[in-house]
Amino acid sequence: MSPRISADRLLADLDALAAFGGRPDGGVDRVAGSAADLAARDWLASRIEDAGCLAWRDGIGNVFGRHPGGTGPWLLTGSHTDSVPGGGRLDGAYGVIAALEVLRTLREAGHPAALTLEIVSFWDEEGASPASDGGLVGSTAFCAGDHISDIAAFVELHIEQGPRMEAAGLELGVVEGIVGIDRHTVTLTGETNHAGTTPMHGRADAARAAAQVLVQVREIAAAADPGMVANVGCVEVLPGAPNVIPGQARLVVEFRAATPAALETAAAGLRAHAALVAEEENCVALVEPLSSKPRSRFDPALCDLLEKVCKRLGAPFERMVSFAGHDAGVLSRHAPTAMVFVPSLAGVSHAPAEHTPDWQLTQGCQALLETVVSLAHREGESQ
Ligand SMILES: [Zn+2]
Repeated sequence: MSPRISADRLLADLDALAAFGGRPDGGVDRVAGSAADLAARDWLASRIEDAGCLAWRDGIGNVFGRHPGGTGPWLLTGSHTDSVPGGGRLDGAYGVIAALEVLRTLREAGHPAALTLEIVSFWDEEGASPASDGGLVGSTAFCAGDHISDIAAFVELHIEQGPRMEAAGLELGVVEGIVGIDRHTVTLTGETNHAGTTPMHGRADAARAAAQVLVQVREIAAAADPGMVANVGCVEVLPGAPNVIPGQARLVVEFRAATPAALETAAAGLRAHAALVAEEENCVALVEPLSSKPRSRFDPALCDLLEKVCKRLGAPFERMVSFAGHDAGVLSRHAPTAMVFVPSLAGVSHAPAEHTPDWQLTQGCQALLETVVSLAHREGESQ
């Protein structure tokens, strides 16, 4: 039998952390580097010390905690304590406080797994401040440093931030990876002309062509992979006057999918459809790749171990991919990594209404403890 985490202590510390940058609407403003973020990091270090553990920081601002008598190689677990502006109280914070609760529980129980466990709150995961390097800053710096070579595995517990688990009646998610994200710029070029005097049949209207590309993006994505999501978040029409037929229109199309093949199929579909509608509108289409973030694949053995933990707890679970980026994506390129999800009520995240029922937060934390214990056991046997 593994030791049981304390639900009261977990929930009380989540409340205490939410007070840093806390808003009257229940959300948090704790953008990386803000006074609230720095105060929350100091508080976390003191909570680690209150638990009789050692708190330390690296040069970038990541906060770590470990048993005073511990020694590597470490099983690392944690997440981030920074938030987006007007964010929720659980995104990142839950994974950090649950890690602290697991470390405390194992240390109090005198469990040997406490000796190889390290917890972390990464610096600036969200990239929400104008001064940021774009997010995942702390985990990226960590992976470029020396300490990464002492990490045997990384596990991140996180809220799902989407509605899929709640809709499917799942309590835990074994996350096998993070989707790849490809962005394309679609430029339609027609002919700028007088919107009153030019007959309708002779126009080369770039906005009309762009609109038809935009409308078709969902179908293109669904045809490539039913699990894919797609978005057109930027639309630009030039020159942008009510009485001028647009000579140029530009869209930014984003696809997210679990496999590179699906992303390639979607890109091909986008190119084909843009060429087709451009021709019909007397325009020319140019589809150019804007950016490509490769998918992250988590460690299969670690995912198997997580699945066993879910079964042992009797919690309905499924294997899934994450449609949002996480520090675990960065870590997965350097150490065996996996993630565990708990449901997000109504799929709300990056907003004050972000919520997960207390019992599910407690169960997720216990699942993290069981994972840490199982991993410590596995590492012990392999040495
Ligand atoms: Zn997060």
